[in-house]
Amino acid sequence: MRIDIITLFPAMLDGFLGESMLGRACAKGLIDVRVHNLRDWATDKHQVTDDRPFGGGAGMVLKPEPVFAAIEALRTPEAHVVYLSPDGVPLSPAVGESLSVRSHLIFLSGHYEGIDQRIRDRIVDAEISIGDYVLTNGTLAAAVVVDVMARFVPGVLGEEKSLTHESFTRNVLDFPQYTRPAEFRGWKVPEVLLSGNHALIERWRAEQSLEKTRRLRPDLLIGHHETHHRGTDQSAAQDRPPRLQGG
Ligand code: SAM
Repeated sequence: MRIDIITLFPAMLDGFLGESMLGRACAKGLIDVRVHNLRDWATDKHQVTDDRPFGGGAGMVLKPEPVFAAIEALRTPEAHVVYLSPDGVPLSPAVGESLSVRSHLIFLSGHYEGIDQRIRDRIVDAEISIGDYVLTNGTLAAAVVVDVMARFVPGVLGEEKSLTHESFTRNVLDFPQYTRPAEFRGWKVPEVLLSGNHALIERWRAEQSLEKTRRLRPDLLIGHHETHHRGTDQSAAQDRPPRLQGG
């Protein structure tokens, strides 16, 4: 899988791409992540990538020319272009999994007040939000989406089965985990986990998951988590009304 990330702040991703499971996945060639500085596609001598918004107002907006040039230079026939945006489709495991089957992803990070709408209408295939808050730019959001998505790429996680127990995978939160020592400062690990009885342990874990979900995220249990039902495909966006992304 090839991943291109277009950002004004490539250095923000240095540590992220070199460490932990993602670092190993890159080193093993399971995913090939390339980070690009949008300024490389600016044509003037000051490498300007933004301008004032038409109609007035505070802040600056990313210009279409360098963004189109960057995407057109990096794009392959299989490329799926994703813009990170607070008003995009909320990120979920389902969204991550749907991205993980793509062979080429291009992530576009915005900055300032956002990007020229023509980019979103004409060259972006999907828009993803990592939460209902506003970041200063989309670089960390791209990293979060890559991390969520990469866990679904075969071979990236050491143990494939670890995915099946994760929070949200079956609309419940994960059960509590313990490791050695069996007693620490007088606090004991639940007896059942030391019993060696796998059926009992499975049942205890299922009960714990359910209880925790009821207490912390009852919305998951009533199946009202709309992120599981929304896709990210926005292909042919130019033929649709602009606000239909993710529909
Ligand atoms: N004016 C925009 C709005 O209110 O929707 C916010 C722009 S924000 C300051 C700058 C950039 O950060 C955005 O273009 C986007 O790429 C990124 N960004 C901010 N919050 C985000 C979020 N929750 N999810 C994904 N990307 C986000």
